[in-house]
Amino acid sequence: MKVHFDATKCSGYGRCAEVCPSVFSMGEFGYAELLTDGTVPAGDEAKAREAVSECPEKAISVLSE
Ligand code: SF4
Repeated sequence: MKVHFDATKCSGYGRCAEVCPSVFSMGEFGYAELLTDGTVPAGDEAKAREAVSECPEKAISVLSE
């Protein structure tokens, strides 16, 4: 599974890093950063989907299943 992250939409609430810390972290300027190329580690698919659905800015989307 791979996710796409649009940094221009991120407002920095940090919800993604809370629910899926294997893929997202909060950068030094308070906005999200991808820890991978968007690839979700096996077993974390549900967490990644939760990050997609909980991002208030719709900055994250599923690129491929
Ligand atoms: S949940 Fe969305 S808006 Fe919030 S930090 Fe993550 S990508 Fe940015």
